[in-house]
Amino acid sequence: MTEQNTDRTASEKAFPSATVLGYPRLGPNRELKKALESYWAGRSGAQDLEQTASGLRDYAADRIEELGLKESSAVPASYALYDQVLDTLVAVGAVPARFTDLRGENGSVDRDGAFVLARGDAARQPLEMTKWFDTNYHYLVPEIGPQTTFSAAPYELVAAVEQAAAQGRTVRPSIVGPVTFLALAKDDGTSASPIRPLDRLEDLLPVYAQILAQLRTAGAEWVQIEEPAVVADFAHVTEDELGTAIERATAYLAGQSARPQILLATPYGDAGDLLAPIARSGVEAVHVDLVRGDLDAGQLALFTADRAPALVAGIVNGRNIWRTELDAALTRLEGLRDAGAKVSVATSTSLIHVPHTLEGEDDLDPAVRRWLAFADEKIQEVATLARGLAEGRDAVAGELRESEEAAASRREAPGVHDPEVRARAAAQTPADTQRGDAQRRRSVQAERTFGSARLPVLPTTTIGSFPQTGEVRKARADYRAGTIDRAQYEQFLRDEIARVIELQEQLGLDVLVHGEPERNDMVQYFAENFDGFEVTHNGWVQSYGSRATRPSILWGDVSRAGEGLRGDAFTVPWISFAQSRSQRPVKGMLTGPVTILAWSFVRDDQPLGETADQVALALRDEVADLEAAGIGIIQVDEPALRELLPLRRADRTAYLDWAVDAFRRSTAGAADETQIHTHLCYSEFGEVIEGVDALDADVTSIEAARSRMEVLADVRSVGFARGLGPGVWDIHSPRVPSADEIGSLLISALDHVDADLLWANPDCGLKTRGYEETKRSLENLVAATARVRERL
Ligand code: GLN
Ligand code: ZN
Repeated sequence: MTEQNTDRTASEKAFPSATVLGYPRLGPNRELKKALESYWAGRSGAQDLEQTASGLRDYAADRIEELGLKESSAVPASYALYDQVLDTLVAVGAVPARFTDLRGENGSVDRDGAFVLARGDAARQPLEMTKWFDTNYHYLVPEIGPQTTFSAAPYELVAAVEQAAAQGRTVRPSIVGPVTFLALAKDDGTSASPIRPLDRLEDLLPVYAQILAQLRTAGAEWVQIEEPAVVADFAHVTEDELGTAIERATAYLAGQSARPQILLATPYGDAGDLLAPIARSGVEAVHVDLVRGDLDAGQLALFTADRAPALVAGIVNGRNIWRTELDAALTRLEGLRDAGAKVSVATSTSLIHVPHTLEGEDDLDPAVRRWLAFADEKIQEVATLARGLAEGRDAVAGELRESEEAAASRREAPGVHDPEVRARAAAQTPADTQRGDAQRRRSVQAERTFGSARLPVLPTTTIGSFPQTGEVRKARADYRAGTIDRAQYEQFLRDEIARVIELQEQLGLDVLVHGEPERNDMVQYFAENFDGFEVTHNGWVQSYGSRATRPSILWGDVSRAGEGLRGDAFTVPWISFAQSRSQRPVKGMLTGPVTILAWSFVRDDQPLGETADQVALALRDEVADLEAAGIGIIQVDEPALRELLPLRRADRTAYLDWAVDAFRRSTAGAADETQIHTHLCYSEFGEVIEGVDALDADVTSIEAARSRMEVLADVRSVGFARGLGPGVWDIHSPRVPSADEIGSLLISALDHVDADLLWANPDCGLKTRGYEETKRSLENLVAATARVRERL
């Protein structure tokens, strides 16, 4: 350490005793969503957007302080308008070549330029988007090549620090660290001999040093550098390479003299062996995720040595909505402190993964509500734990008691342990996940009629939803508001279904869908029809950019709502009505157990696999009822199968075991002649293709149009000998694919898939499309398929 460095740190403040890694960004009433969308639509100006943004920064800081985190630097400045990875990209000036014209004097792009990277424009595709670790948040993927230039332009962060300073407040700016930024980036494809983004680390580090210096000048005392890459395994980077990179990066940044003190954060999992180089690097504080990760004795010693960094203990779960059991948490924290660590209390991750607050959620079952903590309530938990740690248990006795009583009421609540549901799950045998032989099913299904005829070769179908028009949304809102009654609403839905069936007949599709107008959301609809779930009014969570979802809460044992253990069928009336309107087969349409879990907040008091089995049994009842109602084709969607794939390779087999098992449990009651379909969205199939094969569905539809059928190479490599519908229409854009284009995709698919196994369908559901492009695209799909059939 240089003389100057020692002086600097000696004069700095200790890390605050309590903090959170980040706060929800959308605003309590999704103010940011509205401001962004109105700005993008040209209905409001840059100043209006800035006013909302700065208002939300103030709101967050005020709120966090009010809830008990009052120390200097306890408020994280993590206010990305669109995405924190995009903000980091802009801050380091890593603008991809195709956007170079947007660059300004600082070498990077301004706010409008950043929106073009995020959303594309007439001439350019936006940056790709993908899941942020194993959360439901999506980040924009940086594109890095040998030519990528870096330059410091952290203007959003600096502005946030200055805005706070103007009010006499010191906030803690937060940025994605250099190793994570590069590990999550992809090769930009500009070079014939591709590089790995992480190979550019040495060029990137000096830019981070400049950013740190600028933040220091702006008044930051602490900066939060997030390096969650250390909790994951990557396909293209080995653990050794990651270790070398993190050791180099943290030591380099710690070695800078002009900088704020550094909190190096490792949320979303267990940093394992990579914690040691981080803790020894010279950074002043290290955040550890104690919910997903752990600290063994050796790791704890890293925080008790002389000159050890502060241990920022991420003990309050940042990504689920259950209250923390404060007594156990406090015991844990006391243990760490008594071992000699300088302990601060924190969340395990940023709070962007949970809704703002329980306030206003008055329709929640009060018993369940008592078990919950959203972002604001979690901040209070963090503050309470810090107070208990500093002042002793007596100072927080009331909070500890209330927390214990809530936990006890949860343990004892009847719905949490339904003996009948449990007995049924316990009585399951391996035979219950086993259908008849797949080959045999195939021949039985080829011989039978679906509707009034056999399926043609290359059957055409869609994935489930038809466009959710303004009228559909209005009818749902009117029904909720009580302006129309149930009978009127249901009549509206029947009319809508009848119309969609007629349209599909006119278009000449072979296997029809009812269009899903009764579903606001493919998971929430099931949550509303199952026992064991609650749904919120305003529990929005950012998905990407201005988009948010409202996850349901799976709190208890699951079965279909209604009388008795099996409850009532709920999709059957709609599907049967649709089927009554056509001689052609209509698919039953269900959401699979893994996807229902992946897109909900799920109980944390038992293994996910057990919960998945309960959901599977409820779905199995629906499958049986659909079958009994004469529905011959039933689709069980699992678009999230890959989403829950664990970050560590070693955990993946166990995950796929229970996930595949749950899907099979939901479908294996079906007779051989019933054709089970599944639908998965993503195109990077490689990692899970064996799992997909093990689902034992008769037909699988996948997203393939964007990658121009590239994914089919994987399919052949595992000998996937099942019906397959690789999407031939990229439904993510309003563009209408021509019949020629669809025809050539089908022909290239025939290189990989036998003609009698191939289906023609779009990439995904049509919910977000308009009718104009839907009709034209499906017309082309039917015409292209007819032409390809002639050539067979
Ligand atoms: N059946 C659903 C639909 O068509 C599937 C959606 C999805 O895969 N995300 O909307
Ligand atoms: Zn899909």
